[in-house]
Amino acid sequence: MAKVTYSLLEKAKAQLLAELRHDIRDERVLAVMASVPREKFVSDDLRAFAYDNRPLPIGHGQTISQPLIVAMMTEALALKGNEKVLELGTGSGYQAAILAELTARVVTVERIAPLAEGAAAVLAELGYHNVQVHLTDDTLGWPEEAPYEGILVTAAGPDVPPALIEQLAPQGRLVIPVGAHDVQELLLISNSASGLTTKRLGPCRFVPLVGAGGWPTVDSGFPEL
Ligand code: SAH
Repeated sequence: MAKVTYSLLEKAKAQLLAELRHDIRDERVLAVMASVPREKFVSDDLRAFAYDNRPLPIGHGQTISQPLIVAMMTEALALKGNEKVLELGTGSGYQAAILAELTARVVTVERIAPLAEGAAAVLAELGYHNVQVHLTDDTLGWPEEAPYEGILVTAAGPDVPPALIEQLAPQGRLVIPVGAHDVQELLLISNSASGLTTKRLGPCRFVPLVGAGGWPTVDSGFPEL
């Protein structure tokens, strides 16, 4: 395949940023969407498409999320810079890198070992020393380090898992896609002294959250992206 030149990627990135501006207001989020190299988180043959506003396959039936969704979820956390954030579903490591630019510490968990290893390698190469990648088993999230001021779930389950609410700090925010296999609603759940409030951020489509709090297995009817 022909080598994709720097300028072509830069042009695609400028177009993507213009698109993101329609929906994203937080300038800090827009700045990190411009500075984190998404092309490092996809395979070489997909590098040319790194700044397309769409999910891309990362192997093992999983995807790196659409940039607009990454930006929306990040903006919804309203990070100030001193939070500890948990991400469920490390995948390529791209969302973790975006978070690492905006906050003090990121703990990210993944259930597929080669993805966790690949993401940890890229994040280390890019110098993200404030991200810890963990391989999970049957436990949902990473209770060892709880509570988290922000929790971001990048795989979709049928409901909001109580185990994640338990890992949320008193003023914490949880962003999670919830719904059926083919379409879900992105929810922002905010914790406060008066309890939990839920805001609907719009429809979305994620790969399944697998295991406790999610789907028992990767359903055979789930479409590959
Ligand atoms: N945030 C990723 C997108 C990941 S796709 C990125 O930026 O590239 C969702 C990921 O969630 C997949 O890699 C999948 O293996 C993982 N996953 C699914 N169920 C999980 C669970 N219960 N715990 C941790 N990771 C899970």
